[in-house]
Amino acid sequence: MKAKPLKDLSRLCIHTITTRPLDIESAAEKYASLGIRGITVWRDAFGTHGPRQAGKIIRRSGLEAVSLCRGGFFPSVDPGTRKLAIADNLKALEEASELEAPMLVLVCGADPRQSPETSREQIRAGIEAILPSAGNLGVKLAIEPLHPLYADTRSAINTMKQANDMAGYFDSPWLGVAVDVYHVWWDEDLQREIARCGDNNNLFAFHICDWKVPTGDILFDRGLMGEGCIDIPQIRGWIEKAGFEGFNEVEIFSEIYWKTDQDDFLNRITRAYLEHT
Ligand code: ZN
Repeated sequence: MKAKPLKDLSRLCIHTITTRPLDIESAAEKYASLGIRGITVWRDAFGTHGPRQAGKIIRRSGLEAVSLCRGGFFPSVDPGTRKLAIADNLKALEEASELEAPMLVLVCGADPRQSPETSREQIRAGIEAILPSAGNLGVKLAIEPLHPLYADTRSAINTMKQANDMAGYFDSPWLGVAVDVYHVWWDEDLQREIARCGDNNNLFAFHICDWKVPTGDILFDRGLMGEGCIDIPQIRGWIEKAGFEGFNEVEIFSEIYWKTDQDDFLNRITRAYLEHT
């Protein structure tokens, strides 16, 4: 079942990484001027502003902070590094709270010097260590499964099933899943696992872009919606059927688009959003 076409931009959110050349002030101003309502902030986008100030800039522009990216990177063969990761995640939770963003997205991490299973155990321990603070601060944690190509160093959670299993283990209203089409579009269990995620009230976020064919760079060559092979309306249909009513978040890492005129790029994003999402 495909989703009904989107009629307006009221549920469009853009991740600041998408328009990396823009500082937070101009990003917020430009998004708002196009009628975009949501913004997800990368931690490095605070620039010279702290999170509190960045939050003020966002709200002054009439935007809503949807989430902070990103926490995670829990696993390491070195216990000292694991401790530092937990401290950094607690800091990220504080930042999300100061930004007045309701959610922190987790790129959970992996260490190629150990098995993915061991990395997942350490991810579990990391989440266990920070989950009480998330609840106290009122900031949700969203586990984002990453494409298996990233299983070496970026995440040992590579499928919706693994993300659902992890969220299910804790069964907390503060822990759920972020579905990013770039990472999960290929998965034969996707429809079922999205439904399961919705049944558990764990579907916290929806990230969109496209998988270009061929892809020039696995990190920095994501496409605009409609430029690649992902059936985004189909996946959005499954997401909405699972009860998701949040923002559709555009997250495009692209060395190509970062080099183009950002006003022009934003216009292309809004068009692609209405036509291909
Ligand atoms: Zn994402």
